[in-house]
Amino acid sequence: MAANAPWAPDHNQDQSCAFCWAARPTYFHRIDPHKANFRMFGKGYTLPAFWATCSRCEGWVAGGATAALLALGSIEPASLEAFRLADLGPEALAEGPPDTVER
Ligand SMILES: [Zn+2]
Repeated sequence: MAANAPWAPDHNQDQSCAFCWAARPTYFHRIDPHKANFRMFGKGYTLPAFWATCSRCEGWVAGGATAALLALGSIEPASLEAFRLADLGPEALAEGPPDTVER
């Protein structure tokens, strides 16, 4: 597997937390591409190459705080379960240049 595979960004410029959409997340999780497919609402879905997390949500991911993560309202239980099965673990996401996108 290549050094940066599955692909993930080098830094947090223009990234947001997968759970709460906070700008400039501080961690990311590569997704195992062989486990990225899942079904939800009777349809097939594929997880992205990585999920970024802010410090607060990373703590909830590490602590298994499913209810807190789902209460944020941006992900469905099935996608959280798929993420947990395919997660290759947290890595620190470096601080990048200023964002270029409007928030
Ligand atoms: Zn977050």
